[in-house]
Amino acid sequence: MVDERDEERLLSLAAERFERRLAEEISGFRVEVAQDFAKVRVEIHEGDAGLRVEMHEGFAGLRREMGGMRVELLRWSFLFWVGQSAPWRDCWPSCSTRLVASALEILARCPQCDAGLPVRGDDAPDAIKCGRCGHGLALRVSDAVRADHAVDRCPVCDGADFYIRKDFDPTIGLTVVVIGALVSGVFYWFGNDLVAYGILATAVFVDLIVYGRLKDLTVCYRCHTEFRGAYARAASAFDLHTADVLEQEYERKIGRR
Ligand SMILES: [Zn+2]
Ligand SMILES: [Zn+2]
Repeated sequence: MVDERDEERLLSLAAERFERRLAEEISGFRVEVAQDFAKVRVEIHEGDAGLRVEMHEGFAGLRREMGGMRVELLRWSFLFWVGQSAPWRDCWPSCSTRLVASALEILARCPQCDAGLPVRGDDAPDAIKCGRCGHGLALRVSDAVRADHAVDRCPVCDGADFYIRKDFDPTIGLTVVVIGALVSGVFYWFGNDLVAYGILATAVFVDLIVYGRLKDLTVCYRCHTEFRGAYARAASAFDLHTADVLEQEYERKIGRR
């Protein structure tokens, strides 16, 4: 009896101890799992935050670059407009051609048929004959024109009033910019604004280069004789009123009116 009771107590004691041990183990395991999960959660959070920071920085950089491109485009447009109007532009084509030794070229206008008659300034004869209509034309070339120093007096009409214009067809440059604007407008419409800006900038740039490389030539208001050379440009831009007055004066003089 005593043994049985002792045995029972021993068993229950063992069971109790086992249960307590089990409980301890389980709680310990739970703490470990909880700690691991917490660690994983912190890592995920940190990784996520890092990714978010990286993306944010990347986008900010991209936005900065786009902003920079816009600034660059504005700068180019500004250069373009400055290039169109600045007084130094009138200097440099003649300054650069001064390095190349070449004679002043005169393109005389036949008063009879308006044909262009090319003559070299340094060895211009006293008179030429129009190749188209046979009209004889006296040339009084001044020393300054002959030496390619200045256009002071017109060899054809003796006039001293000239204007300066670019040696090209002005519609070419305008056409480049207009076509560029239209094409870039199409890209802009479809939301491709970077391409649109690129095309517009390229068109402006091409026009800038073409226009910048063109030289000025001097034209006689009266008889429309043209002067190309390295001489210093002294005439001003075209004035319609002056042209009206002087052309009529010349045409009365040569008997066209
Ligand atoms: Zn002629
Ligand atoms: Zn003239």
